[in-house]
Amino acid sequence: MTGNQGPIRARVWKPAARSLAVLTAAALSAGIPAAAQERGGGPPIIRDAEIEQLLREYTQPILKAAGLAQQNVRVVIINDPSFNAFVADGHRIFINSGALMQAQTPNEVIGVLAHESGHIAGGHLARMREQMANASTESLVAMMLGIGAMVAGARSGGGGGDIGMAALTLPQGIIQSNMLAYIRTQEEQADRAGVKFLAATGQSPKGMYDTFKRLGDEMLFQSRYIDPYLQTHPMPKERVAALEELVKGSPYWDRKDPPELQFRHDLMRAKLYGYMDRSGVSANRYPASDQSLPARYARAIAASRFSDSHAAMAQIDALIEAQPQNPYFHELKGQTLLEGGKPAEAIAPLRRAAQLAPNPALIQILLGQALVESNDPAHLKEAVSVLESSLSREPESPEGYNQLAMAYGRKGDLAHADLASAQSALMRGDLKAARMLASRAKDRFPVGSPGWVKADDISNKDPTGTARATVVVHPKNPP
Ligand SMILES: [Zn+2]
Repeated sequence: MTGNQGPIRARVWKPAARSLAVLTAAALSAGIPAAAQERGGGPPIIRDAEIEQLLREYTQPILKAAGLAQQNVRVVIINDPSFNAFVADGHRIFINSGALMQAQTPNEVIGVLAHESGHIAGGHLARMREQMANASTESLVAMMLGIGAMVAGARSGGGGGDIGMAALTLPQGIIQSNMLAYIRTQEEQADRAGVKFLAATGQSPKGMYDTFKRLGDEMLFQSRYIDPYLQTHPMPKERVAALEELVKGSPYWDRKDPPELQFRHDLMRAKLYGYMDRSGVSANRYPASDQSLPARYARAIAASRFSDSHAAMAQIDALIEAQPQNPYFHELKGQTLLEGGKPAEAIAPLRRAAQLAPNPALIQILLGQALVESNDPAHLKEAVSVLESSLSREPESPEGYNQLAMAYGRKGDLAHADLASAQSALMRGDLKAARMLASRAKDRFPVGSPGWVKADDISNKDPTGTARATVVVHPKNPP
């Protein structure tokens, strides 16, 4: 994203960029657009206050045990139904929504996060890049193309699977190249580290073991569909056997997740299914006979997408009645009203949600939007302050800057409106528009004022610099 993978990504192996991303997980900006294409254009990254908070709580004890507490590692959720998780640098662990949806317990997700933390703690990424630099170009490209074909074949399902299986039986010379062997030792190291982190935090390694065993079995028995996790994390029988030895000794093997955490996990999965499932599928997955709160949550979300807003609102109000302190039920109500064209009514529930949530930045962006769209000049001051506060914690949110630009625009503060638009363009990766808007903002600000300085900084950005292309999308109806 920041372009530090430039040499690997952009230069020599452009045609294989996608497979490289799958193989090394190093080429994020090459990988995500490809994934987005496969999904038919849905948002590549899921931003959601509830899910991110839960993942933060899953990750923090592990990172602490790994000695990574100071590294500011965050978990990024990729909108992809397959099972995958990987690290691309020392600051981000990526996990597919599919992995979260498949995991029955917090412990399964925590186990995968522990393994990924093991890669970060082991410094595997830096060493892997070095290793790639040493591998001969030919063997590297052959391998990448081979694995790329396997991935493409596996993904397309049906007939394409044949190509995939062909790639699995590549000549031994390629399979046994230094690089794959090296990756395999890294996998074993990350397993060992992950088990250690789980023990240090008093958690069971069962979820990790079960997940890897399941994926390993999938690789052996399932030829038509293979999750991408298996390409980034080769899982031969010996690795699973070694892991079994490691986990057997854990004094925490039988320890279950706290019920409260399991409940929030169930709510998270319900939310993802509610947002992702096609019309009618949720009703099968969470039939009306299931009166648990997660089931009702999934149905309420599905109703907000597919039914009339009246029906959805009744279900959401019932959720709020059951758990009045749950910030995300209020958020759902506000979001549903906002998307239903009732911004003024969305303000109160979103204010409540922002008050209750431990990390409200993403909810504040929605609240800012409701305040702006309510078209009431009395709300503009609050809109600006809520959005500024949100952006201080989410400084890469183009959507936040967009809303801020509108709030300033309606207040008649065109200098700040242009500056916020420039920041939004910058975060979208549109440097040309960013510089144009920033120089316009500069003309409107008094020379040397704080706004002028920020605008000046953007208008001088080097086009070859490291403009970011972060995408902020709250899960909405996929197209
Ligand atoms: Zn791994």
